[in-house]
Amino acid sequence: MTSNAEIIVSGAGPVGLLLACELALAGVRVTVLERRTEPVAQSRALTMHGRTLEMLALRGVADRFLARGMPIPSGHFAGLPTRLDFSACDSTYPFTLFLPQSVTEQLLEAWAGELGVDVRRGATVESTGQDQDGAWVTGTRDGTPFRLDARYLVGADGARSLVRRQAGIAFDGLPPTKTAMLGDVLLRSPPPGRALSLGNPAGGLMVVPLGGELYRVIVVDAQEIDVPVEAPLTLEGLAAATRRVAGDDYGIHAPQWLSRFSNQTCLAQSYRQGRIFLAGDAAHIHLPAGGQGMNVGMQDAMNLGWKLAGVLRGGASASGIASLLDSYEAERHPVGAALYRNTLAQSALMMNSFDPAGQALRATLSELIKGPELNAALAHDLSGFGIRYAAALLPVAQGVEVCARWTGRRLPDWPLRHADGTVSSLYRHLAGGRWLVLRVAQDGWQSPLDDDWVETVTAAVPGREAELDGVAALVVRPDGHVDHAIASAMVANT
Ligand SMILES: Cc1cc2nc3c(=O)[nH]c(=O)nc-3n(C[C@H](O)[C@H](O)[C@H](O)COP(=O)(O)OP(=O)(O)OC[C@H]3O[C@@H](n4cnc5c(N)ncnc54)[C@H](O)[C@@H]3O)c2cc1C
Repeated sequence: MTSNAEIIVSGAGPVGLLLACELALAGVRVTVLERRTEPVAQSRALTMHGRTLEMLALRGVADRFLARGMPIPSGHFAGLPTRLDFSACDSTYPFTLFLPQSVTEQLLEAWAGELGVDVRRGATVESTGQDQDGAWVTGTRDGTPFRLDARYLVGADGARSLVRRQAGIAFDGLPPTKTAMLGDVLLRSPPPGRALSLGNPAGGLMVVPLGGELYRVIVVDAQEIDVPVEAPLTLEGLAAATRRVAGDDYGIHAPQWLSRFSNQTCLAQSYRQGRIFLAGDAAHIHLPAGGQGMNVGMQDAMNLGWKLAGVLRGGASASGIASLLDSYEAERHPVGAALYRNTLAQSALMMNSFDPAGQALRATLSELIKGPELNAALAHDLSGFGIRYAAALLPVAQGVEVCARWTGRRLPDWPLRHADGTVSSLYRHLAGGRWLVLRVAQDGWQSPLDDDWVETVTAAVPGREAELDGVAALVVRPDGHVDHAIASAMVANT
């Protein structure tokens, strides 16, 4: 097997596929190796968060996902009765999209195909290595051994990541101690309403319609909370647990998928070792609560993709960004650590709260998040809307005054009004994966970015005048986060 790839991605899950698209968009040659010969039919994830939709909108493909899913304006934290309200979030997508992971992967693989990504199914990576010039993998496809070389290797190969293990990167954390049950099943007499979520001293239950008579039933059963994750789950076992928690099994039958999942929580000690990177479940695993693993992983992929492309295509060095690839771990490891924390907290509230004290804690928190500020803080955390990177990546020239309040903030898809009266969308200017300098006030300031890697637009942002007071220009990264903002006073003085 040969390849002229500049990047090898191990794993064609949602994270590997999105990363490959982001690289191909910038003209980088990428080969994705996937051991499965066919896409997975079952869907672990059902929730796509608003920030992931924004990311897809940044590249002009969000509509494909919206067309296949159903927007839901609220979500949950630890299955508490008070829902998280996304509708107040400042975004074109103030909701979660109900979309099975199998559809997400199907749409990503189709997009990868359009961009010319070389996805090789049935190819299992068995060993990896690197030196100062590049990285390589060896493996087997159709019984035939192969070796592929490239400039960089990314492990998007899931929780048991071979790439992570071979690179010797520690996966620190907590072992599985509690488990829950999952069944995609038919229900003869489903509970009324769109979805059911309940919690009591016997445990917790969620019933979510998947289409037709198919439902996902998730049970946290106090009586079976210590059963190991590997123990097989039977339909009878799921039905009995459902009855214990809800007093009814809703006529459960015809299982399509029965499984257990655990509260195992681990975070890779580093996301990079030389020319090898980790993204998605290869870097972080946790209790699937609040619909986050795939979303955070896809956001890892976006963060890494444009940076690798910037380094390979020369934009980074031409723009004076010395350590762009190091910034991947600097920015995303703290996001993984926050994910670790919030899912562990949810695990305590969902799987360790059956006694009166635990029930009282749940009731207290549920009351507290009725307050709009706390509710919004959690909604921003889980959705990814709240992520703000700590530092500017671009060197700021001496004498340039920066408005620090903008550094690292994500931008929603603002409408921009141009001097000729036309209106365009901010995200449209980022669709090619390049930087954007948005001049909102005076002209005159020269961007330090390499011309091939930046578009410059002069426009007003209707409705945002107060927010942008004192700002002359926003230097926006390809992922829609502000790198830094130039103060008006500085421009006036140049
Ligand atoms: C019950 C449940 C519900 C969930 N719900 C949500 C949700 O609503 N929202 C959400 O955001 N997340 C959710 N998640 C988490 C989500 O499913 C994962 O975070 C997501 O699949 C991670 O994507 P990935 O691409 O990193 O890894 P994976 O999806 O695991 O993909 C890794 C790929 O790498 C391939 N691979 C592995 N090893 C090799 C090798 N050696 N060679 C070649 N290929 C290899 C695998 O075959 C696989 O296709 C849920 C998880 C569970 C268990």
